[in-house]
Amino acid sequence: MQRIDHSLPWSSLGTSRQLSVFRFGAGERKAYIQASLHADELPGMRTAWELKQRLAQLEAQGALKGTVELVPVANPLGLGQLLQGAHQGRFEFASGRNFNRDFFELSEPVAAQVEGRLGDDPRANVQLIRQAMRDALAALPAAQSELEGLQRLLITHACDADVVLDLHCDAEAALHMYALPQHWPQWRSLAAHMGMKVALLAEDSGGSSFDEACSLPWLRLSRIFPQAQIPLACLATTLELGGQADTRREQVQAHADGILAFLAEQGFIEGAWPQAAGEACEGMPFEGTELFYAPHPGVVSFLRQPGVWVEEGEPLFEVIDPLSDQASTVCSTTAGVLFAVERLRYAQPGFWLAKVAGRTARRQGRLLSD
Ligand SMILES: [Zn+2]
Repeated sequence: MQRIDHSLPWSSLGTSRQLSVFRFGAGERKAYIQASLHADELPGMRTAWELKQRLAQLEAQGALKGTVELVPVANPLGLGQLLQGAHQGRFEFASGRNFNRDFFELSEPVAAQVEGRLGDDPRANVQLIRQAMRDALAALPAAQSELEGLQRLLITHACDADVVLDLHCDAEAALHMYALPQHWPQWRSLAAHMGMKVALLAEDSGGSSFDEACSLPWLRLSRIFPQAQIPLACLATTLELGGQADTRREQVQAHADGILAFLAEQGFIEGAWPQAAGEACEGMPFEGTELFYAPHPGVVSFLRQPGVWVEEGEPLFEVIDPLSDQASTVCSTTAGVLFAVERLRYAQPGFWLAKVAGRTARRQGRLLSD
């Protein structure tokens, strides 16, 4: 195992922060796994530590057949953002920006570099494009903030990987994942190994999140150069490992087992690995996910648990105003998987309280909530 420590730019005077990458194995094929980019989503960090130990063992046994890069603490900035006992790890205090938005968009600068140099050998095209990605990132002017410096380091390590797993979680939630629809056939096995309840599929959710900043350039380049053979060479997903409180040992060990079995199937690890215990969940259009809000302020009581199927018209939660006695029941407007609910039980304007993944696309434009 090799530990690579990067210093982040623009720390405050008298302090410094670093990003640590742990590299296991060797070889051209690469898997990249990062955890807790939203720094208050800790199931991923805990899962990454399980992976770190298991990968070190596998490396010592000579069982790794490619490179695995692991970043267990992807956001040292957000990790320190505690306010009177509450962890604020989603938005940077200084700028208000979501840590998982606005990653550098690679397809434009890469398209300019590779124009006229692509051929009909997909493997050669992949190598050419990956080099152009590294060159484009290296040629950027110095980062203007610690957040920008962090995001650049993460994307630089991930952009030339074959497999990228970004480990997140939701507030209170069942396991679910986000990916490109074109990649869903390849992800089904991981979904089965991990016991995912639903996969949310979209070509472009808006916002340039980390997984899409890795996977989407290949789709865009294949459309800019339809004559060339450009495979969708970076299989990238966001894995939502349940809710924020889901750091129990048996949970994170199961996540690590599922990820390692998938990496073995992808050719990164030798040996016999168990088959998935169940079938893959359903992949649904992310455009079919409905978010539900309170109609007025009040105390929230949820009526269903995350992970269950709900029918259209089925009650999801109550909102109670004990002063006016106004009591409202919010029902699902779609049939689908109730995959996440909010942790806070006080209803605020504009904050979602429940999310249901349906089969029919109903939304357009920017799909991600901040
Ligand atoms: Zn997240």
